[in-house]
Amino acid sequence: MEKILVVEDERPILMGIKDNLEMDGYTVFTARDGKRGLTLARQKAPDLIILDIMLPKMNGFEVCKRLRKEKNPARIIILSAKREETDKVRGLDLGADDYITKPFGVQEFLARVKAVLRREVEPESELKSYKFGNVRVDFERMEVVKGKKKIELTTREFHILRVFIERRGKVVTREALLKAVWGYDVAPTTRTVDNHIVKLRKALEEDATDPRYIISVRSVGYKFKG
Ligand code: CA
Repeated sequence: MEKILVVEDERPILMGIKDNLEMDGYTVFTARDGKRGLTLARQKAPDLIILDIMLPKMNGFEVCKRLRKEKNPARIIILSAKREETDKVRGLDLGADDYITKPFGVQEFLARVKAVLRREVEPESELKSYKFGNVRVDFERMEVVKGKKKIELTTREFHILRVFIERRGKVVTREALLKAVWGYDVAPTTRTVDNHIVKLRKALEEDATDPRYIISVRSVGYKFKG
């Protein structure tokens, strides 16, 4: 039976969600502020967390950020009254899996919960480390060292590099990168991908203007030669 943690300070909404989820057979835990939500997320190991943004003590963005930082594997659906696109993007950027705007219908809500729980988790990379040129990538520690210098990469940049290494020698389209790294088909654009590639090249290539490892494949995407 799948476990769901609902973090929401408005009691009627909280109880409505709890009742509906329980009727669908889920085990439900509830919290009415962000700090309690964070504690329960750590203690109860829920499969999914329904997380309101405006919460007492700690807001939903902060809860989401902390859970992802400590690699909590729970899926997260952000719940908010805010309609602004920026909040949606921010939530997804912080590692949420989906976003539902209040008010929402029960059927739509339950369908989204099911969809997020069914979404396949990407298999963990079997590669523990990889070396190309004078760059060494440690997948377990999420560390990249070039020569003797530690390279600071963002989580997304590191993830892109992992995709490249796993598919080395093959063309990786921008769309494939978006799907693998962002996992969401609305928010970022292919330009976002290109911007990340520019940063990766600057960090890893000897000469970013004449890349040896991250090669452009005209109008399609990239190929990693390492
Ligand atoms: Ca609230």
